[in-house]
Amino acid sequence: MATQGDDRQRTGIGMTSPRTRARMIERLREQGIDDEVVLAAINAVPRHIFVDEALAIRAYDDVPLPIGHGQTISQPWVVARMTALARNGRDLDSVLEVGTGCGYQTAVLANVARHVYSVERIGALVAKARRNLQSLKLKNVSLKHGDGSHDLGEALAVDAIVVTAGATHVPTPLLRYLKPGGRMVLPLAQPGEERGLQRLTVIELTPAGIKEQALDAVRFVPLLSGLA
Ligand code: SAH
Repeated sequence: MATQGDDRQRTGIGMTSPRTRARMIERLREQGIDDEVVLAAINAVPRHIFVDEALAIRAYDDVPLPIGHGQTISQPWVVARMTALARNGRDLDSVLEVGTGCGYQTAVLANVARHVYSVERIGALVAKARRNLQSLKLKNVSLKHGDGSHDLGEALAVDAIVVTAGATHVPTPLLRYLKPGGRMVLPLAQPGEERGLQRLTVIELTPAGIKEQALDAVRFVPLLSGLA
């Protein structure tokens, strides 16, 4: 983790210091995030290294920011909420993320799970995320250039799947990767609601069958098919 001195050198004004990050954690607590493991993971990941230098002073505001290619880095509250829903108070062995983007949520997940698999459809973003994650020396992450709305052609068995792009329907080909008791967390469009708006939804494989629960209203970039 960068020291305050390093951060100051990078931006010249200290808006990316560990204190700024600590204030963001306090705001997340006020907004109802109470999973200490998740809060510690968010505190461990310097969000400013995931955005362009010109945007670094806004990196700890609770807003999504552009990362190029028409995509965004997710808002810290959303990353915290999705990670907490994926964990549901359990220790996670492995997690699959769909939509790596610049790798911010990947890094947060890598701090709460033993291994993170992450798939991204835009090749240039896979390369960007790889550079970002290498700079944090995170070794428990596997990145793949692929389309996470379809079967990935991999033999995976994970405790949780976190989809970080807005889906119009549940990507059912992925459900077979979940271990029994596993959960998928995704922004899912609801019938009759405004276009571009989704609900964070938890899909759980219970012994009694598939349970679905729609929670907070959110706005994500769309889950698209095919590679770019
Ligand atoms: N997890 C990121 C969020 C990035 S935005 C973060 O922490 O900030 C969502 C990402 O999902 C975009 O980069 C977009 O290209 C990607 N995406 C959209 N549809 C996809 C698909 N079918 N498979 C893989 N990635 C996809």
